[in-house]
Amino acid sequence: ELTVDMAINWMEIARDKYKENKETLTMLDQAIGDGDHGINMARGYQAVVEKIAETEYDHPADVLKSVAMTLMAKVGGASGPLYGTAFMNMSMVMKGKTVDQKVLKEAIDHAITGMKQRGKSEIGEKTLLDVWDQVSSYLDSEDLSEPKEIIEVCQAVVEDTKQIQATKGRASYLNERSIGHEDPGSMSSFYLFEALAEVLE
Ligand code: ADP
Ligand code: MG
Ligand code: MG
Repeated sequence: ELTVDMAINWMEIARDKYKENKETLTMLDQAIGDGDHGINMARGYQAVVEKIAETEYDHPADVLKSVAMTLMAKVGGASGPLYGTAFMNMSMVMKGKTVDQKVLKEAIDHAITGMKQRGKSEIGEKTLLDVWDQVSSYLDSEDLSEPKEIIEVCQAVVEDTKQIQATKGRASYLNERSIGHEDPGSMSSFYLFEALAEVLE
């Protein structure tokens, strides 16, 4: 069950990971985008942690709503609205419920639905959606007795984005030259779910 404290801890660990791996995300986005993804994520999650530290929460859904609003306000580009939508939709599903594995999976599915609409995109287009989709499948097929398996699942998806030609976002401007590079947004979603796996462990 995901509690308020775990949701807060999830965001703190994510913030640390984005800070530590800012350069990695920057380099990936320099290769097939405009090079701001590391800064976007590091700045966004720093603001998220500051926001949730100064607020009292009764339910994890309320934490995630704050996260959504902060990401929408502080992270520009494509990823701000996408992650903002993801957290807002997760919050809506979790509201008033005990956040067990089933609810978490439903929340992730609703996040995917929202991001697809927002990005006018589908799974398999070399975006962060590819990672979220595999996390959803994992939660459907496995019980969460080994949460760290999520990390391996996400790692594999990031690897696989190399082979895909981007058809959405800035990377799509490169056409076939986007092939051979990992998608920066998939990598940032990897860090996010790595942080979640650590909290669920
Ligand atoms: P920008 O491209 O505006 O600079 P970021 O660098 O912060 O934004 O984020 C880029 C990431 O956002 C990409 O690597 C990709 O995963 C994701 N992305 C971009 N456009 C879309 C879209 N239309 N649908 C889903 N994901 C997208
Ligand atoms: Mg960028
Ligand atoms: Mg940008």
